[in-house]
Amino acid sequence: MTRRCERVQETLSEHGRAYLARDPDAREHVSTCAECRAFLVALEEVDAAFEALPRHQPPEEVVQKVIEAVRGIRVTEDDGSRE
Ligand SMILES: [Zn+2]
Repeated sequence: MTRRCERVQETLSEHGRAYLARDPDAREHVSTCAECRAFLVALEEVDAAFEALPRHQPPEEVVQKVIEAVRGIRVTEDDGSRE
């Protein structure tokens, strides 16, 4: 994970996909970086899961744990030799 990935993922976890609409540079990065793309997908799954919950705010502690868990996801390097 590069510093660029770190920054992109951090901002994504704070602002969600809307961040990409504001930052073409980040959008470009996510479109070429499998790790950040996987992060974004996981983030949106978490968002969707929270939205599906009965409407009470999840405790901050839980939110942090989920963010940490999502950050733990690693994408294996694809050398392009197979699908
Ligand atoms: Zn990245």
